[in-house]
Amino acid sequence: MSKRSLLLLIFIIFVCLSLVVYFNLRKEEAPTPDSPRVVLIGVDGAGWNLINPLLEEGFLPNIKQLKDKGGYGTLETERPVKSSVIWTSIATGKSMVKHGIVDWTYINKNNIEVPFRQSERRAKAFWNILGDLGWKVGVINWFITFPPEPVNGYMVSEEFRHFGRRDFSKVSVTYPKALLRRLEFARLGKEDFPKILEEEGLPNYQKRSSIYEGESKLVANYNNFILQEKTIEQVSFYLFQRFPVDLYATYFRLVDVVSHFACAYIAPELLAKGVEEEKNGKVTAETLAEIDKDFSCVMEPVYSYSDRILGEFLERLSSQSTVIVVSDHSFGFNRGGYGHTNLPEIPHGIIMMKGPNIKKGYHIQGAHIFDILPTILYIFDLPVAKDMDGKVLTEVFEKKILKERPVRYIESYEGETRIERGQKDRELDRKTVEELRALGYIK
Ligand SMILES: [Zn+2]
Repeated sequence: MSKRSLLLLIFIIFVCLSLVVYFNLRKEEAPTPDSPRVVLIGVDGAGWNLINPLLEEGFLPNIKQLKDKGGYGTLETERPVKSSVIWTSIATGKSMVKHGIVDWTYINKNNIEVPFRQSERRAKAFWNILGDLGWKVGVINWFITFPPEPVNGYMVSEEFRHFGRRDFSKVSVTYPKALLRRLEFARLGKEDFPKILEEEGLPNYQKRSSIYEGESKLVANYNNFILQEKTIEQVSFYLFQRFPVDLYATYFRLVDVVSHFACAYIAPELLAKGVEEEKNGKVTAETLAEIDKDFSCVMEPVYSYSDRILGEFLERLSSQSTVIVVSDHSFGFNRGGYGHTNLPEIPHGIIMMKGPNIKKGYHIQGAHIFDILPTILYIFDLPVAKDMDGKVLTEVFEKKILKERPVRYIESYEGETRIERGQKDRELDRKTVEELRALGYIK
C-alpha cells in the first residue's frame, strides 16, 4: 500500500469512528420516542418506617433519587389490608364493593373454595380503559390478572411467576398466548436459587428457625418467592425494552413476603421490650422507632434488591415518562412480629412520582390507593370517571400544567362489558388455594 492510500484509509476510519460516536451521543440525548408515557411499578408491602432509616444510612440511592427529583408521600390504604383487594383498587380506582374482589378466595356455587380470578372483577382496570381508547398497555404480574384477558398490548398474568415450576401446557398465562414462547429464557428451576441469592446479595433466611407463628410456612417457601421475583424481574425488563407501550405496569412481591417472617432476626431484647410494652397497653413511639430501625437492617438486602430494580427502570426511562411507584400497605409491629392484616392501625403504603410536570422534592399529602388511576388518566389527558372513588393528585403537578389542562370528568368508563374472558383452569385454581393456605393468607 502506498503512503498516500494508507493516509486515506486512516482518514476514512477516523471519519467513520467520529460518525459512530456522534450518532451514539445523539441517541442518548434524544428522548426515546417509544418510551412509555406512564410506568407504574408496584412494590408490595414497602413502608416508610423501614425505608427512612435505610435512607439515613445511605442505602437505597434510587429511592432517594425518586424522592429528591419527584413527589413522595404516604399512600393511604383500606381495610381489609389484603393485597388481592388493594391492588385491584389501585388498578380500578374503586372500592372493593364496586370492583368485587373482596378477598383472596370465595366459595363457588359448587361449594368449592376457589381463588378470585380476573373474571370476577366487575370494574374496568387501567389496562381496559386505556386499551379501549387505543393506547398500548403492558401489564406484568398484577394481582387478579389470571386468566389473562385480551388487551391492546400484552398481559403477563400473575400465574406466570411460577414459570418452570408449574404446568402451563393446557392453559394460557399470557396474552397473547404466543408471547409465552418468547419468555422461555425466564424459566427458572430450584437449582437457580443459590445463584440468585449470591448475585443479589440476599441472605438465606431458611437457615434460621422461627419464633413467630405462621412464619415457618413462609420461610419454607422463601426459595419459591426468590425464583418468582427473579422470573418477573427478567420478564419485566425484557418486555420493557422489546415491546414499547404507552402504559407499562409491573409488580414485585418480595418485600412483602420476607417482611412477614424476617422479624425473627430482630434483636431478641428489642422484641422482648416491644412485647412487654404491648402487654401494658401500647408500644411507645421510641421503642417502635428502635424496633423499626433494627428491622430495617434485617430487611436491607431485600429493599436494596428492589431499589436496584427501580434504578434499572430509572436508567432506561426517557425524560418524557412519568414513573409512579406504589405499595399497597406497609408493615407494623404487632404481637412480637410484623404484619399488615388485623393491626389496630391501618399500615399505609408509599407513593413516589417523577416525571415531566411533577414537582421536585415535594411531599404529597392525602394520597389514597383510589387516586392512582385518576392520576394516570390525567397524565394521559383523559377525563376522570365520576364513579371512581379517587381523585387526581393535582397538588403534585406543576401549576402551569393544571392551568393548561384542568381536570375533566365523565360519568363512567363502565358500560360495555369487558372483552371476552379466557378459560380458567381447575388445577391451577387448586394449586393457588393450596399456596394461599400454606402461606397463611387463608385459613
Ligand atoms: Zn402480605
